[in-house]
Amino acid sequence: MKIDEVASTTKKARVATHTHIKGLGLNEKGAAVAQAAGWVGQESAREASGVVVDMIKEKKMAGRALLFTGAPGTGKTALALGIAQELGTKVPFCPMVGSEVYSHEVKKTEVLMENFRRAIGLRIKENKEVYEGEIVEMTPEETESTSGGYGKVITSVVVGLKTVKGTKQLKLDPSIYDAMQKEKVKLGDVIYLEANSGSVKRVGRCDAYASEFDLEAEEYVPLPKGDVHKRKEIVQDVTLHDLDAANARPQGGSDIISMMSQIMKPKKTEITEKLRREINNVVNRYIDSGIAELVPGVLFIDEVHMLDQECFTFLNKALESQLAPIVIFATNRGVCPVKGSDGMVAPHGIPVDLLDRLLIVRTIPYTSEENVRILAVRADVEEIEMDEASLARLGEVGDETTLRHAAQLMTPAAVIAQQSGREEISIADLEECQRLFFDPKKSAKLLQEQADKFIT
Ligand code: ATP
Repeated sequence: MKIDEVASTTKKARVATHTHIKGLGLNEKGAAVAQAAGWVGQESAREASGVVVDMIKEKKMAGRALLFTGAPGTGKTALALGIAQELGTKVPFCPMVGSEVYSHEVKKTEVLMENFRRAIGLRIKENKEVYEGEIVEMTPEETESTSGGYGKVITSVVVGLKTVKGTKQLKLDPSIYDAMQKEKVKLGDVIYLEANSGSVKRVGRCDAYASEFDLEAEEYVPLPKGDVHKRKEIVQDVTLHDLDAANARPQGGSDIISMMSQIMKPKKTEITEKLRREINNVVNRYIDSGIAELVPGVLFIDEVHMLDQECFTFLNKALESQLAPIVIFATNRGVCPVKGSDGMVAPHGIPVDLLDRLLIVRTIPYTSEENVRILAVRADVEEIEMDEASLARLGEVGDETTLRHAAQLMTPAAVIAQQSGREEISIADLEECQRLFFDPKKSAKLLQEQADKFIT
């Protein structure tokens, strides 16, 4: 039995709790609207983030980065996501936690590099021409009179594409010829040809046209034979990491990633520095020729104090690179030792040379009332019904623990309500939930009290 590699879902899960965030919720003057775009409060940090968005758009953030400092659950990740959204749709957002770099198998800088490349997007635009015509046998005279190219033989005759504008001898390269064989194209069939800069790239059957081109059946109107049909521009968004991974494990196929995975020889390999360099070269060529456009995204590194000196050195250098995303750090630590530095102590555990490059923004704790409003927004998105009293109670839980913990209780509380045959969460469900599940503080306190009973 073969076990397929399981795709990691951590990144998706990390963004899932922020589905209600849709930008930064600022007005045209850059001031925070009290409740907008999923946001409640945290006005100053949102406004500061808006200024950063403008700086990025004006290309004034090169070599710099942003640091959010503030208690857990005060919206640091949500702000970073909001910045990515304000920069445009399809701007990659890659969240990671500092401690992720410590793995037995992969070098620390390699983990950082992979995440850097997950945060750099490439928008690839393609304009293809499509012709339709009937496959016909060509007479020797016709073959001679058709200038250029070479005819390929299907059932031992030279074939052409009969269109309203006359019969054209097919200029088919071997791969297209193979495709025709595979499609079992025979005389009399109506096929389409997909061309790109004059040369045939693909052949298909017209009945498969709609699905091949991702069109609804009604959208497909057969072309007058031979007319050139400019397709809508197709835009594909991929990240540099997608390209690295596709080239390390080529799969074949006709989508853009697999097409670009043929940049290198199709054999299984690791993602190496050499492979990345070659991909960068190809990407640069695409950019120069106008086919692709670079979309720098946002790399969010939470718990930045977990990184060590080696990582900071890498980051200092990486921030200088032309292929750098916007890097946003977050921490809730004050002055603390810099890891791997022989006891050097620095604000937020970040060495001074990196600190110098940072714009620092503080997030402030929420009031109970804000907590309740944020939880109401979350309940709405998750389609969870709660009466007012239980929302207020959940707000108090948020005060005592963290906002994230309070939000996390919603789903189990909804399950408990359902088990009692109710749609709406009541205070009793919350109490039951708190009896069953420990919040981190309570759990830590219990561990301390009963330290002798636990293995240390
Ligand atoms: P940590 O330091 O523990 O990583 P954090 O500061 O990154 O925490 P988030 O994860 O951004 O906090 O916030 C916790 C949850 O609350 C998320 O679901 C987030 O979307 C939501 N949230 C935080 N602040 C706000 C706000 N002001 N308005 C609306 N939603 C918010």
